[in-house]
Amino acid sequence: MVTIKADRMSAFVADIFEKAGSSRTEAERIGKYLVIANLTGHDSHGVQRVPRYLEWKRLGFVRPDQTVKVVTDTPVLAVLDGCYGFGQTVAPQAVEVGIKKALSMGLAAVGLRNAGHIGRVGDWAEMAAAAGLVSVHFVNAAGSNLVAPFGGVERRFSTAPFCVGVPRPGKTPLVLDFATSVVAEGKVLNASFGGKKLPDNALVASDGEISGDPHVLYGDYAPAELRDYRKGAGAIRAFGDHKGSGLAFMCELLGGSLTGTGATEEGRQFANGMLSFYIDPQKIDPDGFFSKDVARYTSFVKGSKPIAPDGEVLVPGEQEERMRAERGAQGLPLPDNTWAAIKNAACEVGLSDARIAQVTA
Ligand code: NAD
Repeated sequence: MVTIKADRMSAFVADIFEKAGSSRTEAERIGKYLVIANLTGHDSHGVQRVPRYLEWKRLGFVRPDQTVKVVTDTPVLAVLDGCYGFGQTVAPQAVEVGIKKALSMGLAAVGLRNAGHIGRVGDWAEMAAAAGLVSVHFVNAAGSNLVAPFGGVERRFSTAPFCVGVPRPGKTPLVLDFATSVVAEGKVLNASFGGKKLPDNALVASDGEISGDPHVLYGDYAPAELRDYRKGAGAIRAFGDHKGSGLAFMCELLGGSLTGTGATEEGRQFANGMLSFYIDPQKIDPDGFFSKDVARYTSFVKGSKPIAPDGEVLVPGEQEERMRAERGAQGLPLPDNTWAAIKNAACEVGLSDARIAQVTA
C-alpha cells in the first residue's frame, strides 16, 4: 500500500491527462474529481480509473474538451448531448444549465446523453446543493452491461446509480449516492487489485452460484493487467432483491431511454446518461420550513438507539464527510497494484521517471 497526498495526486493526474491531449483546464478537472472520489472513500471512482480513461481516449470512446450540444431547450427543461466528452467536463456543464433554470423557475429537468464516465454522481448533487438546490439524479451507463436483474443470472443492467442531494444552510449537504448493484463495478476492480474484499453476495456466477470473487466478473488476469469485464462469464447482483432491481430498471429507463442515451445494451460504446431534477427550496418554501425540518428530522433519525453499543446511526453523506476529513489530513491509500498501473499509464503518455518519482518523494 502507498499513501499519497491528495494535492500531489490531483496534480499528477492532471499532468497525465494534459499529456494525453486534454487542455490543462480539463486535465485539472479530471484530477480534481477523481481525487475527490478517493477523498470521500469511493476508491471505485477514484484515480484507479486513470488507465481505463486513457484506454478509452486511445480507442476514441471519450473525447477531450467537448462542449455539450443543446438538443432541447425550454424554460424548465433541457436535453444536452455530451458528445462523448469527458464526464468531468460535460456533467458540470449540464448541472450548470439545471442550476440556472431552477434558480429562475423553481424547478428544472435536464437530460444529459452520451457523456463520458461522469464518475461519482454525488459530485453533481453537491454542485447543485452549493447553489442551494435539491437535486435528484437517475443515471445509467449504457454499454456497461454488468448487473443481473433479480431472479436472473445474465447481465441486463449497468450499475445504474441513483442520487439525491439536499442542501443544509451552513452545513455539508445530505447526499444519498449509490449504485443500484450490490457493489459498483469499481469496487470489483479495486478488490481485484488487492483493495477491500467484496461482500460474499456481490456477484453471481454463470451457474447461479453467489460469490465475492472478482474473477467471476473479469475471468483470469495478471496482477497489474487492465481488467476487462467482457472476459468474465458472471455478473454483479442488483441490490435489495426485487426493489433494488426495480430501481435499476427505472434508472435505465429514465437515465438511459428518456435522455436519448439508450438503456444498456451489449456491444454499445460506453456512455453515461443522466436525468436530473432540480428544485429551489426557497421557491417551494419561502417561509423556510424545509431547512428547519431537515435539521429536526436529521437529529431525530441520528438519535435512534444504535444496535451495537459503540455503533452510530449515520445519515446520507456523513460517511463521505468524515472520510474527506481523514484522508485530506492523512493522504490517499492506494493498493500497490493500482499505483503500479497508474505509473505505467503515466509512462505510456510520456511523463518522465523523475516526474513520476516526485509523487511519492
Ligand atoms: P455505497 O454502497 O458506498 O453507498 C454510498 C451511500 O450510502 C452514500 O450516500 C453514503 O452516505 C451512504 N452510507 C454509507 N455508509 C452509511 C451508513 N453506515 N449509514 C447510512 N448511510 C451510509 O456506494 P456505491 O454503490 O459503492 O457507489 C459508489 C459510487 O459509485 C457513487 O458515488 C456512485 O455515484 C458511483 N457510481 C457511478 C457510476 C457511473 O456510471 N458514473 C456507476 C455506478 C456507481
